[in-house]
Amino acid sequence: MSEPRVYAPRASQSPGEPRDFAAELNPEQLAAATHGDGPLLIVAGAGTGKTRTLVYRVAHLIERGVRPERILLLTFTRRAAQEMLARAERLAGARSGRVHGGTFHATAHRLLRVYGPAAGLAKDFSIIDQGDAEDLMGLSRAALGYAQKKSRFPKKETLHHVYSRHVNTGIAIEDIIAAEYPQFLDYREDLTRIYADYTSRKEERNLVDYDDLLLFWAGMLESDADLGKRVSGLYDHVLVDEYQDTNLLQARILLGMARDHRNLTVVGDDAQSIYAFRGATIRNILDFPRQFAGARVVTLERNYRSTQPILDVTNTLIARARERYSKTLRTERSGGEAPWLVAARDESAQTRFVVDRILELHESGTSLREIAVLFRAGYMSADLEIELTNRKIPFEKWGGLKFLEAAHVKDVLAFLRILENPRDEVSWYRVLLLLPGIGDATARAAVNAMAQMAWTSSAFGRFTPPARARAAHGALVTLLDELRSGADLEGRTLSAEIGHVRRLYDDILRERYDRPEPRLADLDQLEVIAAGFPSRAVFLSALALEPPSSTQDLAGPGDRERDVLVLSTAHSAKGREWDAVFLIWAVDGFFPSSRALRSDEETEEERRLMYVALTRARNDLAVVYPLNAYHSRRGADYSMDQLSRFIDRGVREKMQRVATGEEAVETVTAAAGRQLIDLRALMRGKFRTP
Ligand code: ATP
Ligand code: MG
Repeated sequence: MSEPRVYAPRASQSPGEPRDFAAELNPEQLAAATHGDGPLLIVAGAGTGKTRTLVYRVAHLIERGVRPERILLLTFTRRAAQEMLARAERLAGARSGRVHGGTFHATAHRLLRVYGPAAGLAKDFSIIDQGDAEDLMGLSRAALGYAQKKSRFPKKETLHHVYSRHVNTGIAIEDIIAAEYPQFLDYREDLTRIYADYTSRKEERNLVDYDDLLLFWAGMLESDADLGKRVSGLYDHVLVDEYQDTNLLQARILLGMARDHRNLTVVGDDAQSIYAFRGATIRNILDFPRQFAGARVVTLERNYRSTQPILDVTNTLIARARERYSKTLRTERSGGEAPWLVAARDESAQTRFVVDRILELHESGTSLREIAVLFRAGYMSADLEIELTNRKIPFEKWGGLKFLEAAHVKDVLAFLRILENPRDEVSWYRVLLLLPGIGDATARAAVNAMAQMAWTSSAFGRFTPPARARAAHGALVTLLDELRSGADLEGRTLSAEIGHVRRLYDDILRERYDRPEPRLADLDQLEVIAAGFPSRAVFLSALALEPPSSTQDLAGPGDRERDVLVLSTAHSAKGREWDAVFLIWAVDGFFPSSRALRSDEETEEERRLMYVALTRARNDLAVVYPLNAYHSRRGADYSMDQLSRFIDRGVREKMQRVATGEEAVETVTAAAGRQLIDLRALMRGKFRTP
């Protein structure tokens, strides 16, 4: 027989419109985007086109013939990766969709699901988020008898913070305690003991925390075994945005991933490093040329985002930073007004000013989507949210979303998690303590009994509870049996499973809260979100790893184009830009946060954070500060406030002062008492703490 005729599949890719990169990038950007192989560092200030260059580089690699699925793009959020790949698609066509993009943690998770078993990790491990990790740390603390200690002992959050910092930075535990919690130095050996218990607890219960994800990824790469080679051989090119916010462990991972081909591109700005509190270090940027000998270093100095008057302000602000490597930015954009410095009488006047000015901008043609209001911490927008709702101005909030941290959502997830992983001790406690008649002692007895029965799925049923817990025990056994058999569940879907859990849980919730309706609505929402996932395991991992960061993320893709105003924390605004930006609460103690003033390093990080916030603006920038405020948060009831220390005289000279109108101030003052009460009600509704 003759050779079969080969029927080659048609190329499915639709190439993007042919683009002339040189017309869309300046010479330095072009050099970086079309850089051949080998290590490349782009270090440059805000708005100079770092992210844009990275997108063009992805497109260029694909056009050059690199297979998209052999390109890894690491970003700070899932949303950033999606947006960058969507833009690359416009340049290089649909095949860009096959590029692997995401955060370090999500990528680690994906790899561990595949290669974990070969590295001694049980296949069906569960991911625990930071809150769960802290709870587990609390269990270790209690199990070793530290809970009852008389003298002050570190709280579970502190224990976890020191542990996590140690894992991510490699700094000795002792040194971390000495620097941050000198009062606990005597406990250093106790801490080590707790960490050992925490570690074995995770292992026995098949749990993986955020730090493990990175650590295990690095561990696979650094092992001598063939596995390291296989993992590092998955990609031919690795690209990283926002490199200034990576930590030592992430740098080790990159070193491992690029060890054979050295095709690593990183971009960042030391002046925008804002995650040192989580262990990020700008040493990664500074040391890059040493770690990767022969690395090409590209700097960009022209800013394309902001008007010159805005840059004058931000350049002055950052020039005051103690350590600084980037240069003063310039733009060729002409015109623009000096940024506004707005003194408002109090919070209500601040809100009124912001809303009025937003409407004014909107009427003169700026869409709401091109406007953002930024603040240091999520709770600072509460008053504004009330007013926007009253005035029917649509908005979405980034960064402050507490949906998944809300107790009732975590409660329902805990049921799903014990189904998924019967060894999940933290979730067992959570579920058991919800039930009538079960307290700490019974919960502990139940968990111990299950551990002795090797956590089999029938273990809980065989545990004999005390008389007063019998009814609750029986109800839970029945529920779990029904869920496991799936017989009663319509379509056996995940949403149906949540619905089934709610047959038991909704009554508990109604019992616990005076106003159950918004919480019940959250659970409805959870069912809707769950419907989008193929399985319980995928759903739980996704929620633990990449919780939706805005209400928009929850609403699904169809809603993304809506014309809505953005409210965001400064951290969540990183990398973004808007035509008009408001920074509210530019008050000392708020921004910089009074909690971040223990050391010069912390204060400097706050300054960089404000730099990040102000450099988001293209055309209009307003910095607003109330002169008076009610301060339940800071002890005193009422006080005079001071403008943020970062807006010093030099910065102020580049701004124009704006006072809010008298009339507005009068009405607002009269209403101040009522407003405070409203505010509290809203906070309760928003964060839904128990
Ligand atoms: P940040 O440090 O805030 O992350 P960045 O350096 O990543 O900023 P980009 O977001 O990539 O900067 O770019 C800022 C803006 O400037 C974007 O709107 C981008 O499209 C635009 N821009 C960058 N370079 C050019 C260019 N060569 N021509 C036209 N517009 C450009
Ligand atoms: Mg960027």
